[in-house]
Amino acid sequence: MLAEPPPTQGDVHFSILGIPVRVHPFFWIITLIIALRGDSAPPAEVFSWIVAVFVSILIHELGHAFLQRRYGGHPRIVLHGMGGLAICGDCDRSTRSQILISFAGPGVGFLFAAILAMLVVSTGHHLGLATDLSQPLSFKPSGLKILGVWLLWESFVSPHVNEMLSNLFFINILWGAVNLLPIYPLDGGHISRELCLLRHPREGMILSLRISMFAAIGMAIVGLSWQSFLVVLMFGYFAYSSYKTLEAYRASSW
Ligand SMILES: [Zn+2]
Repeated sequence: MLAEPPPTQGDVHFSILGIPVRVHPFFWIITLIIALRGDSAPPAEVFSWIVAVFVSILIHELGHAFLQRRYGGHPRIVLHGMGGLAICGDCDRSTRSQILISFAGPGVGFLFAAILAMLVVSTGHHLGLATDLSQPLSFKPSGLKILGVWLLWESFVSPHVNEMLSNLFFINILWGAVNLLPIYPLDGGHISRELCLLRHPREGMILSLRISMFAAIGMAIVGLSWQSFLVVLMFGYFAYSSYKTLEAYRASSW
C-alpha cells in the first residue's frame, strides 16, 4: 500500500531545487475524495484543501529529501494516493543521519506552520492559543482545534485566506505530529527502529515492530472514539502490517 506506485501516463513531473518530483494520479483522486467526504463542500473549499495538501506534503517530503542530499544521496520525491515518499537508495545509513532524515519531514512542517503564524502576526492580526472559547476576545476570530488546543487568529477579510490558513495549520501540525508516532511506516516508526537497534542490536527490530503494532492498535481505538472511519482504517492497516512483518521477521530469523 505504501510502496512506490509504478509510473503511469497521468504522472506529473517537475523538480524543485534539483530534486525530481513525480505526482501519481491517485494523489489528486484520494485528496479530492477526502475533500468531498460526505458533505457538499463548495468548490472553493475543495480547491483550497487540494492546494493545502499538495503544498504541505511536498514540504514534508522536501524536508526529508534535503537532508538525504546533505548525507550524500540523490533523492527523488513521489506523491501518491497515501501521501508521499522521499526515496534515496544511496544516502548515508548511519543511525544519526537516518534519525535526522526521518525527523526532517515533520520538522519542516512545524517550521512552515511557525512561519505562517509569524506572517499572520506581521500583517497586524492577533494570533494565539486557547483551551476554552468562553473567554471574550478583543477580535473576531478564525481558527481550528488541533490536539485539544484552539489556534485562533484575527479573521482576515477574505474567507479564502482564513480557509487556506486553517487547512495549512491543520495539515502541517497534525500530519507532523501523527508522523512522529512510533508506527511503521510513519517517520516515527523509522526513528523508533533506529533507537531500538542502537540499544538492542539483536532484538531491536522485533521490539520496534511490537511497539509499532501496539501503538497502531491504540490509535485505531482512539479513531473509534472519534468515530473516524479513516483513522480506524489507516491505523488498523498499520497494526496488521506491523504484525505481518513481525511474523515474517521472526520466521526468517529462526
Ligand atoms: Zn515523512
